[in-house]
Amino acid sequence: MDLFFEPVELTLHEPFTIARGTQRVAGTVRVRLEQDGLSGIGEAAPSEHYGDFQASVLKVLELLRPLVEDEHEASLQMLHERMHETIRLNPAAKAAIDMAAYDLLGKRLGTPVYTLLGLSPARTPLTSFTIGIDTPRSMGRKAAAAGQYPILKVKVGTSRDVENLAAIRAERPDAIIRVDANEAWSPKEAVARIEELAEFDLEFVEQPVDGGDLEGLGYVQSASALPVFADESCVVPADVPRVAPYVDGINIKLMKCGGLYPALHMIHLARAHHLKVMMGCMIESSVAITAAAHLSPLIDYADLDGNLLIDDDPYVGVTVEDGKLVLPSAPGLGLQPVS
Ligand code: MG
Repeated sequence: MDLFFEPVELTLHEPFTIARGTQRVAGTVRVRLEQDGLSGIGEAAPSEHYGDFQASVLKVLELLRPLVEDEHEASLQMLHERMHETIRLNPAAKAAIDMAAYDLLGKRLGTPVYTLLGLSPARTPLTSFTIGIDTPRSMGRKAAAAGQYPILKVKVGTSRDVENLAAIRAERPDAIIRVDANEAWSPKEAVARIEELAEFDLEFVEQPVDGGDLEGLGYVQSASALPVFADESCVVPADVPRVAPYVDGINIKLMKCGGLYPALHMIHLARAHHLKVMMGCMIESSVAITAAAHLSPLIDYADLDGNLLIDDDPYVGVTVEDGKLVLPSAPGLGLQPVS
């Protein structure tokens, strides 16, 4: 297989703010694996929070090039074993190679990735649409504009969460609303904030406290009425049994765990621990979002909207109809370049 890659900047429609900071552009890396006239597409959307940067992804891909080009088959097992032997961590670069290899494998077999995995495209969940932190008025406006999405994920962790939720609820009395605090609260504060926000009829809360504070997560889970999901606390497969006693569910992201192959392990581990499963994303194009969506028939909740927040999506892949993820049926990931 031949490996090609290039940096790609994605521009957000509007600045996107969470409890940790604001993002205007996403520095990603597009990957292409070529073999026998077929090409597989992948994408790294590095998150600084997990130690990944666009520049480090480019270096790591160069480091992984010999082992990728050595592989004659797009064997996910061998690729992951050898990538892990070569370098630890660096999940975004590994995720890009992983999804390109799945794309290539599907194209070689003439079948979509979901079929390769034995999954039914009819079982995809609804995706939420994310409302970043802004003024109550702007958050209300964005919630109203997202009328085609029955589920909203609202970023919280500010001094104005009650006003923000009130503005959104006023515009969208119909919506299922889940909130994500991105580690903003102490455990005690989280319990108090969740109680205040309960009047807005919320579905669950994601990562109320620091990612390393599992006892804190457990405290919030036992003291609050809302289910608690781990995102920053649950990064790779080995984290699943660690967080399981403290939460109701986990948020799996390809850019945290290193691709579909480890994400599948996480899904099965979560089920063995009776956890609910959500898949989320970074600011990504349709490449990585579509890759994650191919696993989505296995999950309970999706927050796969990164591609909906950008201006210059280079591909069309998974689409959303009345909130439901609709998988493309072309071989591989089923991506078509935007002409
Ligand atoms: Mg989150």
